[in-house]
Amino acid sequence: MSSAPLNPAPPASDFIREIVAQDNASGKFAGRVITRFPPEPNGYLHIGHAKSICLNFGLAQENAGRCHLRFDDTNPAKEDQEYVDSIMEDVRWLGFDWGEHLYYASDYFQRLYDWAVLLTGAGLAYVCDLSADQISRMRGSLTQPGTPSPHRDRPVQENLDLLERMRNGEFPDGARTLRAKIDMASPNLNLRDPVMYRIAHAEHHRTGSQWCIYPMYDWAHGQSDWIEGVTHSICTLEFENHRPLYNWFVDNIAKLGGAPANVSYRPQQSEFARLNLTYTVLSKRRLLELVKGGHVNGWDDPRMPTLSAFRRRGYTPEAIGQFARSVGVTKFDSVIDVSRLENALRDDMNRRAPRRMGVLDPLKLVIDNYPEGQSEELDAINNPEDPAAGTRKIPFSRVLYIEQDDFREIPPPKYHRLAPGQEVRLRYAFFVRCTTIVKDDQGVITEVHCTYDPATRGGDSPDGRKVKGTIHWVSAAHAVQAEVRLYDHLFNKQDPNDVPEGQSYLANLNPHSLVVAADARLEPSLKEAAAGERFQFERHGYFCVDSRDSRPLRPVFNRTVSLKDTWSKMEKKKPAS
Ligand code: ATP
Ligand code: MG
Repeated sequence: MSSAPLNPAPPASDFIREIVAQDNASGKFAGRVITRFPPEPNGYLHIGHAKSICLNFGLAQENAGRCHLRFDDTNPAKEDQEYVDSIMEDVRWLGFDWGEHLYYASDYFQRLYDWAVLLTGAGLAYVCDLSADQISRMRGSLTQPGTPSPHRDRPVQENLDLLERMRNGEFPDGARTLRAKIDMASPNLNLRDPVMYRIAHAEHHRTGSQWCIYPMYDWAHGQSDWIEGVTHSICTLEFENHRPLYNWFVDNIAKLGGAPANVSYRPQQSEFARLNLTYTVLSKRRLLELVKGGHVNGWDDPRMPTLSAFRRRGYTPEAIGQFARSVGVTKFDSVIDVSRLENALRDDMNRRAPRRMGVLDPLKLVIDNYPEGQSEELDAINNPEDPAAGTRKIPFSRVLYIEQDDFREIPPPKYHRLAPGQEVRLRYAFFVRCTTIVKDDQGVITEVHCTYDPATRGGDSPDGRKVKGTIHWVSAAHAVQAEVRLYDHLFNKQDPNDVPEGQSYLANLNPHSLVVAADARLEPSLKEAAAGERFQFERHGYFCVDSRDSRPLRPVFNRTVSLKDTWSKMEKKKPAS
């Protein structure tokens, strides 16, 4: 990478930044700004998470505050250390640092349990023997109040005793729950005696078999923020109607004298619209399904919308940050066109990625009037956007490869590339004119023969002769053979969930999301390319050396993103040399 990364544009203000500014002005949190990014370690982070990360860490940076990384690890059945590790790697890759503020909800299990005992002792929670199914059936609906549990009025002592026995492992999974005693007729369903604890005799990736009851997310989340002194608890819109429940828990614990020492305020939750992208699914459940079902090759398959996949595919964290800032923070759900992400990437890559020539679908081109066994070196510009990137030498010889697509035996109208009798410019090299073609027994063209004009060295004709087409090429004897993977959207519908009744979103998988150019020939300077290195292959797009499968003499490249406008741009950018 030669030149400096994209200069991050300052984020525009938004309603959350305004809330923070107001709180700072009113002294609500005595000027503190403490945010957190609270993933559940049950999958890899995706581009939606990046929006939340940039917002939470960004707010902390802009306000000289801090942002915690907290794992909301309350569901042992679905969580794993692998996910914890990948999440930390991804947050760092985006350029953020939580410093010493790494937390786990599981660190608060004892505290939460003590609070549950406190609420139970005050008659604000009870042990219920209904099954999960019964509870959900008796919850009522938006128009129907819920039905109280037959155990709702259990005496306090009995509740305390049963809670302790739940905790001690006396009951099987699902036999009982602890529920908050709030209001079965509340218009907010979250307040209809929500479950606080469930029994699950499951190994937790951090607490082992220490616990056999686990807090529900809603019972853990708000208090975890509170314990950490989070001021601005930012989450996505679907949690808006959980906010009254979080406040109920915290307020009642505070009333009973249970507030954490050193925290004189309660977190203020604000909700923003989650990121949705066209042609993309962003639900962890679905992403897991794609991985487990073998529809992709793992979480970091470059077609996935996970940060690890983007990294492997060649996306830069700067482009992702730029995109996250540009989509902004609002209260309204919308779907963002995935091309906005791709454009942010092109902007970044255009400045940074050195240009190279690579032939993905090779056709042999023989220059009959070029001496056999001879070769010469020509100068090629590394990056027209970055003069400091300089030039490099590329070898030229009698036998070259060009793209199959750049030759037509019978050219359609306005075809300016190579055809019998037609003259084109070989990029950075010479003008060549096609004289004859060679075909095999099946009539397939195996060689195109040309003559070249030595006076056009460097790609310009001294007699002012013009050619309409410029094509790229590599010298056959010098080229490096490579595998190039061309990715397209994983789904072929803008809304992957748009399927006929009874069908799965999997029906919208794009069968052409990966096309492999198995026998590509690249200019020799790419022999040494290291994993993760990024290039523009002229006229093809931006590419990155695959970090998993690439080998020194057999490199594998991933197409990061295609070029938007290849042909006209290249003609305009033709160097003046
Ligand atoms: P999913 O819905 O994809 O399964 P999640 O919300 O369950 O994701 P969490 O691990 O709980 O995943 O997410 C951590 C944080 O990231 C939460 O604060 C959540 O609000 C936020 N987040 C998740 N998905 C998005 C998204 N698409 N856009 C913005 N923020 C998101
Ligand atoms: Mg969640």
